[in-house]
Amino acid sequence: MKTWIKNATVITMDEKRENKFETLDIVVWDDIIYYIGNNYNEDYDKVINAKGKIVMPGLINSHTHLGMSVFRNTSDGLPLIDWLNKKTWPAESKMSDEDIYASTLLSTVEMILTGTTTCFDHYVGSDTTIKAIEESNIRCVFTNFLKDNDGLGNERLKNFLDLYKKYNNKNDLISFCMAPHSMYACSKNYLRKVSYFASKYNLPVHMHYCETVNEVQIIGKIYKKNMADALIDTNLTNNKLILAHGIYLCDDELDKLNKYDISIVHNPVSNLVLGSGICDVKKLLDKGINVCLGTDGAGSSFNINMFYHMAYVDLLQKGIYRNANIMDSYDVLKMATINGAKAMGMDNFIGSIEIGKKADIIMLDLSDINIYPTNNLISQVVHNTSKENIVMTMVNGKILASNGKLTNNLSIDKLKDNIDNIVNNIF
Ligand SMILES: [Zn+2]
Repeated sequence: MKTWIKNATVITMDEKRENKFETLDIVVWDDIIYYIGNNYNEDYDKVINAKGKIVMPGLINSHTHLGMSVFRNTSDGLPLIDWLNKKTWPAESKMSDEDIYASTLLSTVEMILTGTTTCFDHYVGSDTTIKAIEESNIRCVFTNFLKDNDGLGNERLKNFLDLYKKYNNKNDLISFCMAPHSMYACSKNYLRKVSYFASKYNLPVHMHYCETVNEVQIIGKIYKKNMADALIDTNLTNNKLILAHGIYLCDDELDKLNKYDISIVHNPVSNLVLGSGICDVKKLLDKGINVCLGTDGAGSSFNINMFYHMAYVDLLQKGIYRNANIMDSYDVLKMATINGAKAMGMDNFIGSIEIGKKADIIMLDLSDINIYPTNNLISQVVHNTSKENIVMTMVNGKILASNGKLTNNLSIDKLKDNIDNIVNNIF
């Protein structure tokens, strides 16, 4: 199947192209981007007229908790540790696999309709949650989160490894990483064990890190070291490491960590909602650290619409530096696309529109009142795009949503009924 996307305004995010956007045709052949240019003269099966539309790579949500959409807006007024202890963990203990399946499905629907084509999950993995991902057809780096502060560490590790062995290489859209919850929820020996298995199976590691001042104090007491040295002590720096948050790191610590293969996932809204702080993204970028963007779970961030979260990134930096020129919208788009792909080692096949890459593509309509007229295209994409402007979401060459509607036959009403029942049971 060859789909010719014609006359699009394309933001490729290809570092080799100097222009930030160009009028181009893109031809998708099955799951691959086959042609980019202005002189396509071969056969095709379908034409999409993209005149007046933006075509760009699908967004990559580099830190989220798919099963937590049922916790939407439950953290208002609570710092992280109280929200986890009082709300999240007691309610989670009442959730069945089927509940997490429904909550995962709600998250994937929200992401597909808001232009996210890949997500890095950090939650409870099982056969049923894999089923939700498979039904959604979204690209996902999947996991089963790990912690041993309740005596169940080895059981969780075994469950993850069983899941990985069962599903690895079974579905082009699903890959795996290891996901210890955090250094405060895992012992040092447990984290070293995680590092061992991550090395053995060549898996990246995705962990919460340096999210709050409280966490830094706890780790300081346990390890008698600063956060960077404590992390190195766990051996996790031997692995490809994706650190969610990374707020409280001084220059020396960043320089030390920068010698390893680390990426930091900025989660601006979650950090604000929980009163955790504001990450100095500018400093991370200046040091050459790969910074990507996450929404965190809907429980601490209202929604998992990456466009909503993108809008905070440069504004926060301009505010804390009192400098309007500190960062531009294109830096933000990189964090939400190619930098996420780099974090997981997926930039050879997603994160930008380039010939030979997977066709993970979204299309935005620029004619709506909230985004009109076009004076600064990149800024408008980052700051003005709402769910209604996203007119197509394609993953692996397959259109998953068109004009705000899913293309599969999932009943949203039935899903909402399920979610209502879960909320009634767990809170
Ligand atoms: Zn998180």
